[in-house]
This record gives sequence, C-alpha cells and structure tokens, in this order.
Amino acid sequence: MQLTLPPGLSPQGFDAAVKALQGAVGPGWVMTTDEDRDAYADIYAPGPETLWGASGAVAPQTVEEVQAIVRIANEHKLPLWTVARGKNLGYGTAAPRMPGSMVLDLGRMDKILELDPTLGYCVIEPGVGFMDLYERIQRDKLPLMMSVPGNGWGSVLGNALDHGIGYTPYGVHAKNLCGLEVVLGNGDLVRTGLGAMEKNQAWHLFPFGYGPTWDHMFSQSNLGVVTKAGMWIMPEPETSLELTYDIPNADDIGWVIDTLAPLKIKGIVEQSIFIPSWLGKMVIKGQRKDFWDKPGAIPEWRVQELLKEHKLGYWQVALRLYGNEGIVKAQAEVVKAAFKPHLDTPPHEKWWHQGDPTNVMDTTLGVPSAVPLQMGDWVGGKSAHMGFSPVVPATGKHVLDQMHRSRKIIDAHDVDFYASFTIGGRFCNNVNMLMYDRDKPEDVDRIKKLFNALIADAAANGYAEYRTHLGWMDAISNTFNFQDHAMRRMTEKVKDALDPNGILSPGKNGIWPSAYAAQRGKNLA
Ligand SMILES: Cc1cc2nc3c(=O)[nH]c(=O)nc-3n(C[C@H](O)[C@H](O)[C@H](O)COP(=O)(O)OP(=O)(O)OC[C@H]3O[C@@H](n4cnc5c(N)ncnc54)[C@H](O)[C@@H]3O)c2cc1C
Repeated sequence: MQLTLPPGLSPQGFDAAVKALQGAVGPGWVMTTDEDRDAYADIYAPGPETLWGASGAVAPQTVEEVQAIVRIANEHKLPLWTVARGKNLGYGTAAPRMPGSMVLDLGRMDKILELDPTLGYCVIEPGVGFMDLYERIQRDKLPLMMSVPGNGWGSVLGNALDHGIGYTPYGVHAKNLCGLEVVLGNGDLVRTGLGAMEKNQAWHLFPFGYGPTWDHMFSQSNLGVVTKAGMWIMPEPETSLELTYDIPNADDIGWVIDTLAPLKIKGIVEQSIFIPSWLGKMVIKGQRKDFWDKPGAIPEWRVQELLKEHKLGYWQVALRLYGNEGIVKAQAEVVKAAFKPHLDTPPHEKWWHQGDPTNVMDTTLGVPSAVPLQMGDWVGGKSAHMGFSPVVPATGKHVLDQMHRSRKIIDAHDVDFYASFTIGGRFCNNVNMLMYDRDKPEDVDRIKKLFNALIADAAANGYAEYRTHLGWMDAISNTFNFQDHAMRRMTEKVKDALDPNGILSPGKNGIWPSAYAAQRGKNLA
C-alpha cells in the first residue's frame, strides 16, 4: 500500500518523525515500506483498504520507549493508532480509523510479569497473546482456567480493552481488568486504582482504589496507551459438565433466553452462555458452496434440509457448569428441570475432570483456538465478515423482537442469516455475522447498505452496538444522542485536556480531538 500522510503533515515532516522514531526504538522497529503498510491493513475491509491505511508502524519494547514515541509524535504532530497484537478481525484488524496514522504496535511488549494461582490474577503487557498465557499456565501446571474469545490469536489485554467476550464465568473480559499502567497523550505515566501508591501490594486485587475509578476510561478509548494491566483469571474448577441441547426452531430462542437468563442472574449458571444459530456449526464443516452454490441467501427450504442432513437444531445451547462435582450435579438438575417443560429430549452430557485432555474447540474450557477463523472462508474468494452486534436486555421478548426485526432486514438484502446471542448477565450480546467476498464489489456494497439499515433500525428501537468496525465508529457514536451527545462532548473535553495535540488514536469510537475534528465523518465505509 502506498504512503498516505496524516492530515497536516508534509512529506519532510513525516521523514523527520520517522528518523526520530528510529533513534528511539532502533531503525528495524519503524516500518514504512509499502509491504509493511500491507501487513497492518484491514484484511476484512468492507471497501478499499486505503480508506484506513496506516503510514507505517512503530514497535517499542519498553514503557520508556512508548513514552519517547509519544513525545516524538507530539513534537512532529504524527498521529498514532495503538494496538496490542492487532488481530481485531471484523473490527478493523490493526488498521487505524484515520488514514496516515502510524500504528503503535505493542506486540513486542509481551512479558507475563506476574501469574498468581492463589489469588487468581496475572499482570501482563499488551503483547501477551491468549496462546502465550495458556501455554505458560499449562507448562507450569497452574490451577487456572482462562477465558478466551472465538479467535484465540489476539491479545489478552487488547481484547479486554476492546470489551471482548469469552464463554466461561469470566467471559465479560473488561470486568477482569484490575489496575492499569498507562502512558497519557502528554507522555505522563500513571497507574490507576491502588497502583497510584508506590509499591502498593493490592493494586491488582481491589478494583476501586481511592477516589474516582479510572480503569474503564482507557477501554474502547483513545485516552491513553495501556502498557501493563492486572487481569483476574478463574481458578481451575475440579470438574465441569457440558449440557448440549439442540433447539429446533428459530423462535424458540425466546423461551431459551427466558429459561437461561434467570439461572445466569441467580448464579446457578455462571458462564457467559453462547447460543449460535445453525450456521455457526456449518461454517466449520466446509464452505458455503459445499451446501448451496447459488447467489443470494440460502432459502428456508434448503436451511431445513441442511438441519436434517446434519442433525442440527436451529440453535445450539452448549451450556457448561464449573466447580465441585456435587455442586455441578445439583446445578445440572436445576437446568434440566427448567428445560423439561419446553423440550422432551434430554441434553447430551459430557463431564470433564481436572487433568482430562481438552481439544482445540474447547473454548468453554478456556482453550484458545484458531479453528473458528475458518469462518473467514465461508463465502470463498477474498472472504471476510463483520458482526452487527447490538446489546439487548436478556428477556425473550427483547431478544425475539430484535431478532425478528434484524432478520427481516437481512432477508430483504438477500444475505444469509447467522445470529448468536451470548447471555453475559442481565443482557445479551447479539452478534449477526455478515459474510462477504471482498473481490465482489456488489457483495461489499450490499453488506454496507445492510449494516446502515441495521444500525438505524436498532437505534430507532432503543438498542446500540457494543463494538463496531472502523468504518462505522462515527455512525455508532452518533446513535448515543442523549442531550445532544453530552457523553461524547464530555469525553472529547477530557481528550483535549489529556492529549492536546490529539495524537493518540484520533477517531477511535467516534472520539475526535480538536486537532483532527475536521476528520469526523470522513473515511466511512
Ligand atoms: C472467527 C472470529 C471469531 C471471533 N470471536 C470473538 C469472540 O468470541 N469474542 C471477541 O471478543 N472477539 C472475537 N473476535 C474478534 C477479534 O478477533 C478478537 O476480539 C481479538 O482478540 C482482537 O484482537 P487483539 O486481541 O489482537 O486486539 P487488538 O487489535 O490489539 O486491540 C483491539 C483494540 O483495543 C485497543 N487497544 C489495544 N491495546 C491497547 C492498549 N495497550 N492501550 C490502549 N488501547 C488498546 C485498540 O483500540 C485496538 O484497536 C473474533 C474474530 C473472528 C475472525
């Protein structure tokens, strides 16, 4: 990809900034060739990758180097775009919201600084991947069980900072953050919570500190560069039981949610419960053309045939209970009794005991896996996907209402319907996977129109996305419109105060610093 300069920076200014960065981190860690820029592009981009093209990338290894980079960026007015491992597939990968930004790639900061099996927490740098932490826990035989997202290729910290989700009792990943170290836009280094005291012993254990609590101001934001953080990890349970139910019909999701959400809220089921529709199973069995080779959405009669051929329900609930065997048995009885009035077929049951082997698809046992990435190949060609992901209250009424409306819109755009609901507490994350071939402009165009229609419809009905692709960050931010976007105005005041030159990730989640305010609304999908 050819060089795009950031707004307001001349070629000479850019060269001077690159030279200064090379002095700070070594020439090999400032990457500005066309091939380097390709490596940081959004490989799932809904449109040309250049819409979100980086000018290059810089990869520090220490906190001091991060501070030096931020100082240089301020001096030369070079905007940075922070990523941990940059595997944010579906949301922009490692690419920046504002073209010409330089990616601040923290992948080399990959130390596990503490790993405490007694209190169940770790202190990690941003480059620590799910696989790294998993291997360390296995190697040292520590009685801990991680929570991992469907794509286990990314960063433990990066995923939590972007409000990622996993499928164990610790599945709401941002909730596991406790005590952050952060470089601010002016180069200051701060520690949040109890870490504001030198050598505090309980920094990563007590989540509030003294005074206001700032940890979450650095998640889904551009207010600082997180250089390390404490994260809680679940103690490894003695046993675990998986109860799998195939749920026959699309509208059954209503009673499924009304059955499971109260059990989750009461603590009988502790995990974040993932409920994918049938297509979630098919995407790892093969490619779309193996099951339906015509353009347009797979017709309902063929869907019904496929469910029969592959012995699938419309939805699958693979629910998992964790802990002491006696307690798990009792919890299982409560779950089974709650399902009984709705479904005659008993669940398939599979026990796991500490020390038993796991397999690569055991996401609910905290095993990070790259297998789900196969979904990226479903439509063939330069296959890609995005998720339309509104948050809905965890009741059958809200879930059915959202599903019926989004399904109608997705059907009207002639796109396959693949939804999932994850019950994370009193809410569900509803992810609608939209898959497209980037080599087919008409495919991409249809998906973009569809995405816009889904956002407008959800917002009109009081639902918002929890996370989105670069191309819609402004659009989603616009839907948070209480008191003329009072929240955004407040955040942008804080942004300008902490980062007066606006050099940290301008435009992230619709937060634009004054320095780049003119870029709002540009480079949309
Ligand atoms: C098949 C498939 C399945 C997936 N399943 C899931 C899933 O189940 N759950 C889920 O959550 N996601 C899922 N994803 C989405 C995504 O791939 C993961 O969330 C992935 O973990 C994100 O990449 P990363 O961890 O490398 O984060 P990064 O790309 O490094 O970071 C994500 C964002 O966080 C911010 N950030 C990162 N580090 C810092 C820092 N140090 N300081 C400040 N801000 C920072 C930045 O804004 C960055 O853009 C899936 C994707 C695919 C393709």
